[in-house]
Amino acid sequence: MASTGQKTAKYIFVTGGVTSSLGKGIIASSLAKLLQSRGLSVTIQKFDPYINVDPGTLNPYEHGECYVTDDGAETDLDLGHYERFLNVRTSQANNITTGRIYYNVIMRERRGDFLGKTVQVVPHITDEIKNNMLLLGQTGEYDVVITEIGGCVGDIESLPFIEAVRQIKFELGENDTLVIHLTLIPYLTSAGELKTKPTQHSVKELQESGVQPDILVCRTEHPLPTDLRKKIALFCNVQTSSVIEAMDAETIYDVPILMRKERLDQRALYMLDIYNDQDADLDAWKGFVSRLKNPSDSVRIGLVGKYVELHDAYKSIVESFIHAGAENECKVNIEWIHSESLTPENAEEKLRDLDGVLVAPGFGERGIEGKISAIRYVRENGIPFFGICLGMQMAVIEYARNVLGLEGAHSVEMNPDTPHPVINLMADQKDITNKGGTMRLGAYACRIKKDTLAHRIYGRLNISERHRHRYEFNNDYLQQFEKGGMLATGINPENNLVEMVEIPGHPYFMGVQFHPELKSTVMNPHPLFVNFVKSALAYSLQKRAVMH
Ligand code: GLN
Repeated sequence: MASTGQKTAKYIFVTGGVTSSLGKGIIASSLAKLLQSRGLSVTIQKFDPYINVDPGTLNPYEHGECYVTDDGAETDLDLGHYERFLNVRTSQANNITTGRIYYNVIMRERRGDFLGKTVQVVPHITDEIKNNMLLLGQTGEYDVVITEIGGCVGDIESLPFIEAVRQIKFELGENDTLVIHLTLIPYLTSAGELKTKPTQHSVKELQESGVQPDILVCRTEHPLPTDLRKKIALFCNVQTSSVIEAMDAETIYDVPILMRKERLDQRALYMLDIYNDQDADLDAWKGFVSRLKNPSDSVRIGLVGKYVELHDAYKSIVESFIHAGAENECKVNIEWIHSESLTPENAEEKLRDLDGVLVAPGFGERGIEGKISAIRYVRENGIPFFGICLGMQMAVIEYARNVLGLEGAHSVEMNPDTPHPVINLMADQKDITNKGGTMRLGAYACRIKKDTLAHRIYGRLNISERHRHRYEFNNDYLQQFEKGGMLATGINPENNLVEMVEIPGHPYFMGVQFHPELKSTVMNPHPLFVNFVKSALAYSLQKRAVMH
């Protein structure tokens, strides 16, 4: 099709059953990738059933990383997968929660929009859900809008979303809507068999809500034989060719290739009545996967953070390393280091064998001194360093204390009474008391100074990166830092906020106030990660040369 001009979108809904964590986001992203590589314009959105208005106030231990979009929305980490797979930007409109839906409806109720009426889940909440589900499709930009419904069918809190899907399916009709249900076919070792019953039950649950899935994507550890596919089809009321096998993959980046082999894209196009004779062009994607799987070298990079028990808390950083590693044909082995386990005494023992250290973003006091100890060690020993957001702020504090001699220097976030507030609350944050959606969020411009490491890395002087913070480098100390050897090499042109710091003379020392990990994609690995891995590799090669 690859039509031009105004498009009438078709809608694909992705639901999940049997258990959570089956990878709906990856299946949705993979299907979107396949449709995109056939020339269609696709976007993905996620509807989450929890009552937080957005995930910005959730502890990363609860829900993993909070992903920030260009327009400053704090969203679910699945939006990161969407952007990484599709290389297109998402926005506030791409992530809606139950909390947001109720918030909108209640605001309208207070305004008097429903005067005289009883406001109810059906139709008022479901109407609000439907309006949001159809919104991106009405912009005329997309051929296909994929909507991922968070949670599992059968959850109490998912019901209004499933009901909205039922209504949309009924109102728009068969050819414009498609429901894909992701389910699990467990293998019972004792019986030596794959079992279809949980899938049958899960589909029945959907059917009870009035939704008949059109395609079943079955997560499995073993291939699904034809007779089993037929059995699933018969019991679940779908065609055998609509039973798609989703085998466990070596990497999430294999999934589009596996889904293409299973013809998920062809099946979806056929059922949506979209004529498309273009074959999915996955050459560039396959090139990336092949570089990823055949590295010629490897590096060990320490990731210092306080949520390291849950790797999802650093999802975008991990994926950025995968993109950057493939670009360098170098495997990046991440060593997870809990910041609370680091002290000035053990930093050497814990860090000396690493080829690079990344100090992660974060909030609050816990683990702070560990981060500072790590930075001191890598700064003094010429080990490549990359500090992101809180990591950059800690690099500034470490430098203030140990090089500039500003005893007790700190961020006012951790110590409001510090004699040297080198990291200060931003002026426009001073009167804010509400926690939700009130940080400095989203894309801001940054101007890079000429002939700096930042300039060499980006190859240009004007960049835009995404932010999520309340505190900033205190410009009252800028001269002192620059005289003392730490330079501010990236500055916001409107308000002079320091966005990047570096130490010339150190092999690689880069601190950034923004979050570059949110913009790395398969097709566009982020230059800061690519160059950090490159310098870690150079450091490692040099170390090995000295040892021989
Ligand atoms: N806590 C710091 C701030 O709010 C850093 C935030 C972050 O690392 N995302 O400024």
